[in-house]
Amino acid sequence: MKKILPLFIMIDAMGWEILRNDPFGKNFAPNRKKLESVFGYSSTCVPSILSGRWPVEHRNWCYFVYDPKHSPFASLRWLRWLPAAVTGRRIFRRWLTKFVKVQLKFRGYFDLYNIPFKYIHLFDFTEKKSPLQPGGMNRGPNIFDFLTEHKIPYFVTDTTKSEEQNRDDIIAAVKSGSVDFVFQYWAGLDGLLHMVGNKSPEVPAKLRVYEDWIEKVLAAAKDSYEEVHLYIFSDHGMANCDELIDLKAKIDALPLKMGEDYAVVYDSTMGRFWYFNDNARKLITETLQKVPEGRIMPDEELQRYHALFEDRYFGETIFLVREGVLIVPSHMGERPIRAMHGYHPTDPQSYATLCTNQPVIPDEVTHIPHICRLMEKTALLAKEKNSGAK
Ligand SMILES: [Zn+2]
Repeated sequence: MKKILPLFIMIDAMGWEILRNDPFGKNFAPNRKKLESVFGYSSTCVPSILSGRWPVEHRNWCYFVYDPKHSPFASLRWLRWLPAAVTGRRIFRRWLTKFVKVQLKFRGYFDLYNIPFKYIHLFDFTEKKSPLQPGGMNRGPNIFDFLTEHKIPYFVTDTTKSEEQNRDDIIAAVKSGSVDFVFQYWAGLDGLLHMVGNKSPEVPAKLRVYEDWIEKVLAAAKDSYEEVHLYIFSDHGMANCDELIDLKAKIDALPLKMGEDYAVVYDSTMGRFWYFNDNARKLITETLQKVPEGRIMPDEELQRYHALFEDRYFGETIFLVREGVLIVPSHMGERPIRAMHGYHPTDPQSYATLCTNQPVIPDEVTHIPHICRLMEKTALLAKEKNSGAK
């Protein structure tokens, strides 16, 4: 019997506003706290949790950047000659995404989304490694480097498997008592929220399913561990999208050429621009300043949220829409979706959650990167206590 199992479960998009009036976890993790998230999407929130550092430090921020020199996608350019009726279809994109991921040996999450093939050779993809593995950050170490360094045996989610398979794998690992640390990542709630929005009765129903799974994991742990230090948390929340904006149409109307005068990535809630002449900078900036649905993020503010990249690698201008506005079409999707995240970190629906069975959540744990400190501390404690166990 081992003494302690550190059990860290990340439920994607289980935001504070989604949980605050829900009894989630009252039997097994009644102590909860609202946490501020990180400016950006899961592509930056998850790496921030796993490394305990901010976007400017780990440089895992938005997925696509203008970087033609390093673009691995030149070989896909011929696809621009195929009719949009084919290349615009989600099923075609999904198939191609899988093919490209294998070809380019990308280890992290990868999706071609809705990037036009005409311009794909201008872009690089910034998550080539998996942040869920040692050495997986663009810069610096993560929790899995830490566990490896300290020779702590751990279980981590395999993102190529389904939530249910991962649940069964974690139950098996915990039952056998073979691990001294568990990081489990469930992504299903995020997908559901994007489809049905944060007010749907399907949301609390999904939370009940997760409660059931967690009870089962805890029951399995009873055989091999005296106590479980359980932490359940999210990377961000989810806002319903009630307003759409066609930002691309406004920029396309300018007497400028994409790829020659400027480059842009349209994320779901941000437009990120690079300029190749002053005229483009002037015209685009003036246009963005007249768009009431959003605003250009000032440098001081980007700095405050640790997302001001000195080399402007992720864009010279970051235009961010208000909570509830969705950029459609974007390079992330051709059609609207019900809900989105990646708004300002202080917009109401952006906040994340931390729930635990531990009596105290330290005061200094206020932002999602701080979860990493809890992971390190608990992992070391388990290593120390478990090593003397019989
Ligand atoms: Zn999402």
